[in-house]
Amino acid sequence: MDALEARYRHLLDALAGAAPGRAPVLLAVSKTQPAGAVRALAALGQRAFGENYVQEALAKQRALADLALEWHLIGPLQSNKCREAARHFDWVQSVDRPKLPPLLDRERPAGRPPLNVLLQVNIDGEASKSGCAPEAVMALADQVAALPRLRLRGLMAIPAPHPEPERRRAAFARMRHLFETLRAAHPGCDTLSMGMSEDYPLALAEGATLVRVGSALFGPRPPKP
Ligand SMILES: *Cc1c(COP(=O)(O)O)cnc(C)c1O
Repeated sequence: MDALEARYRHLLDALAGAAPGRAPVLLAVSKTQPAGAVRALAALGQRAFGENYVQEALAKQRALADLALEWHLIGPLQSNKCREAARHFDWVQSVDRPKLPPLLDRERPAGRPPLNVLLQVNIDGEASKSGCAPEAVMALADQVAALPRLRLRGLMAIPAPHPEPERRRAAFARMRHLFETLRAAHPGCDTLSMGMSEDYPLALAEGATLVRVGSALFGPRPPKP
């Protein structure tokens, strides 16, 4: 077993152990990793991959076109990238303002299933972060749910990297609460995306259904090309 496989097995065990009976999804964050690393992980059974930059993702997707993978856009989305995002991804996790849903809906090709959408929430109210305010979630959710080529699936957040685990845990708990409120209005929502290499166990303890893990899986990231 090589290092990648060992880290992968360890993560799958951690996911199964942290949430018995829930089967949280592992999203492998492959930004800055070469296509060969994605191929190696796909050979071990991994299907869902997350990318931050549209152009980088498209190049990788072309190199891996022979594989049936599921691609998630997790980086900030500019409106001039909505066309490519809607065409080349299965999920967009970073919808955070009213301008984006109509563009994604318009650009989603008719022959594909509806685009899965998560609303990104700026849960710690950080000035420099993407994500909508928690108070804006319900209106944005209603907007997405009303568009035929989009499918509202839930919420995503990147809490502030507080050194104290309890502060992060509190942010995850606020996300869980927001997710429950959302589900009361939109029962089809099934995905709460939170937790990365450093804090996925805390996120799972607070109800994450999908964790986004890069470096704990692939090893340290090569610099952005
Ligand atoms: C890079 C990134 C991750 C993965 O980060 P790691 O710390 O390497 O696990 C998860 N989510 C988002 C939005 C990212 O940009």
